[in-house]
Amino acid sequence: MAVPFRRTSKTVKRKRRTHFKLQVPGMVECPSCGGMTLSHHVCKECGTYKGKEVVAK
Ligand SMILES: [Zn+2]
Repeated sequence: MAVPFRRTSKTVKRKRRTHFKLQVPGMVECPSCGGMTLSHHVCKECGTYKGKEVVAK
């Protein structure tokens, strides 16, 4: 099995991890209930999309 020639430095490791994000992008605030939801998706909390109820609770 191949083994890394050099140990990855602290700087290189940290630079790589700057791309690791904590939150999923594309989250917007729901206009109906105020909770966070994925944009262009039906809100999971209140079942609305663009201010209209599309999924009955
Ligand atoms: Zn909602």
